[in-house]
Amino acid sequence: MNLPPFRNETYRDFSNEAVMSKFQKSLDYVSSCLGRHYPIIIGGEKIETGEFLISTNPSNKSEVVGRVHLANKELADRAIQTAARTFEQWKRFSAKDRARYLLAAAAELRRRRDEFSCWMVYEVGKSWAEADADTAEAIDFMEFYAREALRYSKTQPLTPSPLPNEVNEMFYIPLGVGVIIPPWNFPLAIMVGMTTAAIVTGNTVVLKPSSESPVIAAKFVELLESISLPPGVVNFLPGSGSRIGDYIVEHPKTRFIAFTGSREVGLRINELAAKTSPGQIWIKRVIAEMGGKDTIVVDSSADLEDAATGIVVSAFGFSGQKCSACSRAVIVEDVYDKTLELIVERTKQLKVGPATDPTIFTGPVVGAKAFNSIMEYIEIGKKEGTLVTGGSKEESAGDGFFIQPTVIADVAPNARIAQEEIFGPVLAVIKADNFDHALEIANNTEYGLTGSVYSKCRENLEKARRDFHVGNLYLNRKCTGALVDVHPFGGFNMSGTDSKAGGRDYLLLFLQAKTVAEKF
Ligand code: NAP
Repeated sequence: MNLPPFRNETYRDFSNEAVMSKFQKSLDYVSSCLGRHYPIIIGGEKIETGEFLISTNPSNKSEVVGRVHLANKELADRAIQTAARTFEQWKRFSAKDRARYLLAAAAELRRRRDEFSCWMVYEVGKSWAEADADTAEAIDFMEFYAREALRYSKTQPLTPSPLPNEVNEMFYIPLGVGVIIPPWNFPLAIMVGMTTAAIVTGNTVVLKPSSESPVIAAKFVELLESISLPPGVVNFLPGSGSRIGDYIVEHPKTRFIAFTGSREVGLRINELAAKTSPGQIWIKRVIAEMGGKDTIVVDSSADLEDAATGIVVSAFGFSGQKCSACSRAVIVEDVYDKTLELIVERTKQLKVGPATDPTIFTGPVVGAKAFNSIMEYIEIGKKEGTLVTGGSKEESAGDGFFIQPTVIADVAPNARIAQEEIFGPVLAVIKADNFDHALEIANNTEYGLTGSVYSKCRENLEKARRDFHVGNLYLNRKCTGALVDVHPFGGFNMSGTDSKAGGRDYLLLFLQAKTVAEKF
């Protein structure tokens, strides 16, 4: 198949009036579709249980985005058995055929790009630009993994010097049934990335969406249906993690689990998957991408204006609800006061409000549980440091889960708000004696996902390149915004299994290698 080289989608330019007005029309269209019902889909059959997961708009709590039928264990078993049966046919499709489904899905998503972005504005409170970037990333994943699947489908030469009279080859085959468990914070991109990586390599899946964003997942499953993906390749199983999560992870026919979410749930999945269930004939593979406590270090030589902008964008974009969000700024003593002043100045300019408003940078947090947990951390932070801006619910923004972007300075490196993932618009600012001390602090959590260093000192940048122990390190730029094939993404330590999503090693995680030696 002769495909042009992979290229990232470009982002919508919302400073252009025509682009804005087209997006507004899509918002109006999606608004007219709110409140609909979505079924469970197993082997192409649409199933209604009458028990609903009700998804609401975090910018406007009383607005129902959709009602999604909830699965139980019996349906979970049916989904896995169906995926197992479908695997026997799907694994025989050529890589080219499977890649074509991804290309078709990418083309369709590109056509409906604004519509999908608007679903995210309503369901999880993404700002227009954040939602657009999420949809763009989902398209990128499919375009990239389609090409990667073709690359992996070629046989690999096994040995440079084969045995005489023997022909040796090695090729990749799929694993089997995968359980896909995505988070809500990249409700399209991560869900699409994990699902399509698994199917393009010949596996079949049971997709259990996050309970915070089941409608976006349902819309994507509808899209897969519209491009005629064979029934049973992707089985849609909405249901709460606590009710069906353990069951699908422990099921003997589950061959692998692709998870992205919190440290707590990731570790539980890892533990349960390690136990062999009766009738299970393989060791389950777990791909688990988890939380972060990401740090931006500011060195004495840094451009402080640049550093402050990078910190504020990384800390408060999507209200800090990114695994890559900057939740700690570690600043070297001699530039601490000035940098803090610049951070506070920029933070105060951020407008908080409903994500449907295009002028909003900081929308709501995703729901009541997140809101309460973040507010608790802010109270802890007020005792652990000096509150310099924010610190409260944003009362003026309306009936949503709005929290002011909050900066807490003079925080000790081992304080709770400097160690635990808050996953909200809260930045801890920590003073370091010098650059080495700053790096030491940057490495002092159990996580290791993203990090950034602002410095003009070559020696210090090289030190960071070597010693800053994170899966995604950025130098002189913000620590969010990883692009497919540009910044393969995944973290160290308790941030997960370092899968490097969107990178050239990723599809290997969904494959196993077979070696064949034929003697003549
Ligand atoms: P979460 O609470 O861990 O949930 C993630 C997924 O796990 C959801 O689909 C959830 O379903 C499911 N789940 C819950 N309990 C389960 C169980 N016992 N068995 C199986 N599945 C279960 O995380 P989240 O709040 O959605 O996402 C935020 C977290 O994800 C943060 O920690 C963030 O750092 C991390 N994250 C990491 C990356 C990365 O690449 N490293 C990227 C994005 C996000 P329910 O919703 O039904 O409970």
